[in-house]
Amino acid sequence: MKLIGVLIQYGARAVARTFSYVYYGRKKIEPRFRVKINFNNKEIMGFVTDVTDENRSQEELEQELGYQIKEIKEADIIDEEPLINDELMSLAEKVADYYISPLIGVLQAMLPKTLSPKLSSLHGPKIAYEKWVKCLDKDEEGLTPKQIEMLRLIADNEEILKKEAGSPAVLNALIEKGKVQTFSKEKNRFVLPIEERENPHEMSVEQRIAYDNILNSPKNVVLLQGVTGSGKTEVYLRLSEKYLDDGKTVLMLVPEINLTPQMVEYFSRRFGPKVAILHSELTPGERYDEYRRIAQGKAQIVVGARSAIFAPLTNLGLIILDEEHVESYKQDNAPHYHAREVAIFRGEISGAKVLLGSATPTLETKARALRGVYGYAEMKHRVNQRPLPQTNIIDLCNRANYDKCSEKLTKPVLNAIKERMERGEQSLLLINRRGYWTAVNCPRCGYIFTCPQCGGNLTYHSYDKMLKCHHCGEVSIYPNECPQCKNTKLRRVGYGTERIEEELNDIIPGIRVARIDSDVSQVSKKMESILKDFKKGEYDVLVGTQMIAKGHDFPKVTMSSVVMADIGLSLPTYRAAERTFGLIAQAVGRSGRADKEGIAYIQTYNPNHYAIVFGATQDYEKFFLREMMERKNAQYPPFVYLILLEFSCANEEKCVNAAYDFKFALQDRKLDTLTLVGPLTPFYSIVGGKYKRVLLLKMKKRDEIVSVLKELLNSPIANSGVDITVDVDPLDY
Ligand code: ADP
Ligand code: ZN
Repeated sequence: MKLIGVLIQYGARAVARTFSYVYYGRKKIEPRFRVKINFNNKEIMGFVTDVTDENRSQEELEQELGYQIKEIKEADIIDEEPLINDELMSLAEKVADYYISPLIGVLQAMLPKTLSPKLSSLHGPKIAYEKWVKCLDKDEEGLTPKQIEMLRLIADNEEILKKEAGSPAVLNALIEKGKVQTFSKEKNRFVLPIEERENPHEMSVEQRIAYDNILNSPKNVVLLQGVTGSGKTEVYLRLSEKYLDDGKTVLMLVPEINLTPQMVEYFSRRFGPKVAILHSELTPGERYDEYRRIAQGKAQIVVGARSAIFAPLTNLGLIILDEEHVESYKQDNAPHYHAREVAIFRGEISGAKVLLGSATPTLETKARALRGVYGYAEMKHRVNQRPLPQTNIIDLCNRANYDKCSEKLTKPVLNAIKERMERGEQSLLLINRRGYWTAVNCPRCGYIFTCPQCGGNLTYHSYDKMLKCHHCGEVSIYPNECPQCKNTKLRRVGYGTERIEEELNDIIPGIRVARIDSDVSQVSKKMESILKDFKKGEYDVLVGTQMIAKGHDFPKVTMSSVVMADIGLSLPTYRAAERTFGLIAQAVGRSGRADKEGIAYIQTYNPNHYAIVFGATQDYEKFFLREMMERKNAQYPPFVYLILLEFSCANEEKCVNAAYDFKFALQDRKLDTLTLVGPLTPFYSIVGGKYKRVLLLKMKKRDEIVSVLKELLNSPIANSGVDITVDVDPLDY
């Protein structure tokens, strides 16, 4: 008899542990197999963690343990091979440990649906097969002309798809005569369009130096900081080539693959069928096939979005994260992992080098590079030596800047758009993606409502008409006048791409406006065709969120504008300034990339805010120093670590009590360097009928606090019927 340890997930955090089962069968069962098991009279999926031979009888065991042990039958065993290799298993354990998350949840996040340890995975796609024919004997003696024709076709190609051979009658005759044979082969549902192979660019001096620095760096993690247009992609391609030549494999991560089809194109042009693509836009069947192609070693380079960090490549040499500052690398839901952190873990486990690329790296990454924790390479110039566009900040508080026709677009911007239309050039209007936050300011004097306690921006909540601080929980009643200039017409900001599109159509007759935002980008085909048409010149203006710009060269764009830079600033998060700076840098970097000079306009109510001033001059270093000071004063990363606990329950009182109980339990431990903020009511305080409260932990030293936290999460205090999820390194708050 064998004793089988099975990991199961039941409820959110409640039961995420190993249970013992007995097995009397003969069919192979090994760790990392999936099994169907019975738990609380429900059939659920489990993940085998250990298999041990057991000498005692089941009765003896049950007596010893004091409970009944259930049996796993042969038919309950799902896999024939372990689901993941040693390296990925170590990675999953590391991720579960760092993100304080149940291992089974991590496995679910890292595997494609079909392979996930979830019951629903059994209904997922299976391996698909197709019929092929191959040639056994080329001798044409005694064949009819039709048969000879087909035999030659098959012989020329050695093997072809059966359906491509032609007449089934002729084929059957050839099979009967022993000339050819049919066989089945696994079908790959996903086929990358074959791109024309492209010759690499001759690297510029700066690219060559960066390339050498990265290769020769003694550090495992290297930051490549290169201004937009400095040619980072070519460096990625060259490095990939180098690692492939050395017999290694490469993982290339991009923030959102449907927004960066060009990266896929570059890689498939350079490396052809060695490339596999992994992202959520693929159908489950395609994804499964690509996953298996990688696991079988048939692809050596994987290009993909966040979850591709778990791609089953073996012999990994290099992991690249392009645009490492982009927040979509962090998963919104449990286990809330960040692909950058996981990449670094994976690098440690596999010995692969990790390259983080960005024009505007996160403060955390830059600070680590400066401290020598990471290696550093930089590219300060655009490949084509074009200067960055001249950038103008437009003060939205100054009425003289407004065109009377428009609420959102100022005269200089509208004029620039019209001029571009006349010259056959294009304009790009960017709005912050997360523009749904509604902040409050005074349009006359520019006053922004900030928190009297902590200085964070206040957020307007429409359901109870209150202003709330998401940093410290301070609330106040929505005011009826500006405390600075007594203006009674306060402005709640938070409008999107659609309104801009509408306005342009109203104001400029005949204008052709394309719009891309999250509604459109959900459908990748639509998105691609809009971008293609825009590039072809079929539109005058592209309105969209920040990410549209990345990975695309729009040679005809000579004007770009951030429509309302303040949306970013009023976000209730410690990253508000960083996001705003990044958005402006993106906008400025997009204009005038080809042979024509560009111009950029930043519309803002805060023309003197450092994120806007340094954004406009593209002065990352100055921004970095200033923002580090702010973070230090307010005690935010990279000066402290953050962990966010989210409590949720259908009963609000229970939810609040659980949050306070947890807080008091942590306080009782008198932990060194721990600061507790909250419990706070999050912006979305009721989700799916459940009330939410959050508790923010700030700490200078992680280890001791994390182990206490884990202990508490496994104690009765965390088992009061209130779900607790943990978000390590949260991006908001
Ligand atoms: P980044 O990602 O750093 O913003 P890209 O990688 O998109 O920049 O490169 C910008 C442009 O420069 C692209 O059109 C690319 O094809 C071109 N480019 C890159 N390297 C070279 C080179 N060595 N010679 C000529 N053109 C190059
Ligand atoms: Zn506050």
